Amino acid sequence: MVVGDIATGTQVLVIGAGPGGYVAAIRAAQQGLDTTLVEKDAYGGTCLNYGCIPSKAFITSANLAHEAGHAEEMGIHADPVVDMSQLRDWKDGVVDQLTGGVEKLCKANGVNLVEGTARFKDENAVRIAHGGEGQGSETIEFEQCIIATGSRPIQIPGFDFADEQVWSSRDALASDTVPERLVVVGGGYIGMELSTTFAKLGADVTVVEMLDDILPGYEADVARVVKQRAKDLGIDMNFGEAASGWTEEGEGILVTTETEDGEESEYRADKVLVAVGRSPVSDTMEIENAGLEADDRGFLEVNDFRQTSVENIYAVGDVVADTPMLAHVASKEGIVAAEHIAGEPVAFDSQAVPAAVFTDPEIGTVGMTEEEAEEAGFEPVVGQMPFRASGRALTTNHADGFVRIVADDPSGFVLGAQIVGPEASELVAEVAFAIEMGATLEDVASTIHTHPTLAEAVMEAAENALGQAIHTLNR
Ligand SMILES: Cc1cc2nc3c(=O)[nH]c(=O)nc-3n(C[C@H](O)[C@H](O)[C@H](O)COP(=O)(O)OP(=O)(O)OC[C@H]3O[C@@H](n4cnc5c(N)ncnc54)[C@H](O)[C@@H]3O)c2cc1C
Repeated sequence: MVVGDIATGTQVLVIGAGPGGYVAAIRAAQQGLDTTLVEKDAYGGTCLNYGCIPSKAFITSANLAHEAGHAEEMGIHADPVVDMSQLRDWKDGVVDQLTGGVEKLCKANGVNLVEGTARFKDENAVRIAHGGEGQGSETIEFEQCIIATGSRPIQIPGFDFADEQVWSSRDALASDTVPERLVVVGGGYIGMELSTTFAKLGADVTVVEMLDDILPGYEADVARVVKQRAKDLGIDMNFGEAASGWTEEGEGILVTTETEDGEESEYRADKVLVAVGRSPVSDTMEIENAGLEADDRGFLEVNDFRQTSVENIYAVGDVVADTPMLAHVASKEGIVAAEHIAGEPVAFDSQAVPAAVFTDPEIGTVGMTEEEAEEAGFEPVVGQMPFRASGRALTTNHADGFVRIVADDPSGFVLGAQIVGPEASELVAEVAFAIEMGATLEDVASTIHTHPTLAEAVMEAAENALGQAIHTLNR
């Protein structure tokens, strides 16, 4: 049956059910607004289906297998066998549980769910094309709209994700096999998380990066700790090389790279994973019909309330310019947009945005680095605590890395932290909270931390900045 173009109306229309969109929809409904959420693929978006959650499931499994097989020092002798198809089923189960939960939460909060692809007719209406043959379309009129259409992986010339030898991160995380040889193009956070994971699962991994280091945007001493561990895991890293193409060779492929000077190299592999970044999805919604225009990279510009240049149309998450492409940023922006629509006095405050990289070891950062604090006109004081001086870190057998805390001198207000080491993704939350609360070094240092924990290293870093550290030499 073909459903005709029936027009319905809603106060708030949210396009895209990723962590930006579904959170915005729930908060709008909680505010008593009649809210409709339209999704063309899967509830939970990239994050739950193809990104954060599947990658962390793979990382956990790879860590477990690797640790169990490398614990002779502790008297544990094991040779774990990884059943990739079972591992993938388990990962899929976790994803299903979470995406099912998102759908239930939306319904329980009174959000109207619509499946289909939204395209703008004008600044107050979208047409929804329902997927599949004969599914028809409908028009939804709205008072306010929140665009949360996310991002997609960037393809580079010569590497087509349609080819089975060429993996996007999504393909890698859907795989039920481990390639014997894997070339990873891109040493950013997704490239390094997946390199480490596949190396631990038994692949022979080669990273090719155009820049001269991994993890651009992170301080050199932070990246160095991850790079050393990657080397120890046998990952071969090649810098200053851009991947230029690949050809089939025997049973595998040959990936070619080129330096700026035109010097070529070749790497044998079974798969090539291209992880060179993500681009915003703003080009499939006919935004021009609503009077909207994306910037030259496809991002939508927004103000502090996440309003675009068209007042009743908001944008949140990966599709937005100037904020990092992170799930928790998308969710926060979604809440701000929904509450602003409801008339609440809110704004997006990006002072303390934590970020984590789930490499080995992990990285957790928030706020300013020492250099950024200086540039911003502060006279920063810095304290550091190496994990090798932490009792708990030593008992986990993971003592590489450090906690660094940056604060204003003399007020002591905490400005930022850079953590590289065990559980850095969790530890950074304490410093994010400190910044949000306007806490000082003294507040952090005088808070009694449980012993023995990794969190004590945050306290010790604050003590170090104050010249009062007990377990490490004061600067
Ligand atoms: C491998 C990987 C690992 C990652 N790990 C992390 C991590 O550890 N931590 C972290 O914070 N972030 C991580 N990210 C990034 C995170 O996934 C994104 O920042 C986040 O998903 C962005 O949320 P969003 O709501 O803006 O968009 P998305 O999650 O991309 O959701 C957008 C949704 O909109 C839908 N859509 C698009 N166009 C339309 C349309 N016209 N009509 C209807 N629906 C539409 C899409 O189908 C999609 O479901 C990772 C990403 C990847 C790829």
